[in-house]
Amino acid sequence: MTSPEPTRASRYPAGAAAFPHRHLLGIAGLAPHEILFLLDEAEQWVEHNRQPHKRHDLLSGLTIINAFFENSTRTLLSFEIAGKRLGADVVNMHAAQSSVKKGETLIDTALTLNAMRSDAIVIRHASSGAVRLIADKVDCPVLNAGDGQHEHPTQGLLDALTIRRSLRERGKNEEFNGLKVTICGDVLHSRVARSNIHCLTTLGAEVRVCAPPALMPEGIEQLKVTPFHDFDAALDGTDVVMMLRLQSERMQGSFIPSPREYRHLYGLTLDRLAKAAPDAVVMHPGPMNRGVEIDSNVADLAGRSLITTQVEMGVAMRMACLDVLTRRTRNVEGWQ
Ligand code: ASP
Repeated sequence: MTSPEPTRASRYPAGAAAFPHRHLLGIAGLAPHEILFLLDEAEQWVEHNRQPHKRHDLLSGLTIINAFFENSTRTLLSFEIAGKRLGADVVNMHAAQSSVKKGETLIDTALTLNAMRSDAIVIRHASSGAVRLIADKVDCPVLNAGDGQHEHPTQGLLDALTIRRSLRERGKNEEFNGLKVTICGDVLHSRVARSNIHCLTTLGAEVRVCAPPALMPEGIEQLKVTPFHDFDAALDGTDVVMMLRLQSERMQGSFIPSPREYRHLYGLTLDRLAKAAPDAVVMHPGPMNRGVEIDSNVADLAGRSLITTQVEMGVAMRMACLDVLTRRTRNVEGWQ
């Protein structure tokens, strides 16, 4: 089987200059054209994944290690499916079964992974910055699958892809310029919020963030977003409502009065959604606390909720990232 024709546009440089980075550690620092390049690359895989025959041989012979030091359901599965659909040999390493439990240092784990000569390593870790530490010690590309409260770049990218395709499908202008996006919830602990803020502001969207005072990071304005504590005000006329999970595993002490009170002030209900633009779409990275940050009748609202589309886009986006980051190893013309 031959590789499908990649989508090309004149908005980014040719070959490796389109995405000159060895790793994908975060969205912060990426240029708009680099983000758009990855989104465009993912489009072909969305169509490919909708066909009955999904196996491609693009990464055949390559080994990818998914090293997950923190729990994950959808991200791990999504990266595993992405690698396998592209024909790579994919190996999953769970921290619970690894020497990490026996006290191995992160550096030793990195050196061990490196010695296995894998062609890409996908890492999730509970500590912000841990993925960069490993990336500095290995010879192959590293993809950050979420590090602490820092970044979750493929989530930011798949969310942007989901938004762009939803605009296109509804016959709207698919540019991010001027698009109003409200991100609401536990912003303080959310790497998803950070990657989305970087991604959407870089692409020109107007981003509002909304959280109770205890869950709003200090100095968030520096990320070119407008902070709100009043959810109704933050929703006014917004085109996209992105809800975040309350990350209780990262909370020491009490950050919210009670889940009931939290829902009352910050939960996305049908009544609240009516404050947004008439056709505003709803997103959530999952896993959801139904009845806390989002009501079931909103999460499942046909035509407005993009939550399952986000999961679908995740596989295509990760296929694109694995393809692009391994082009040097594969000696793809223009990428050596
Ligand atoms: N799945 C996302 C993450 O890993 C969001 C969440 O857990 O709430 O960050």
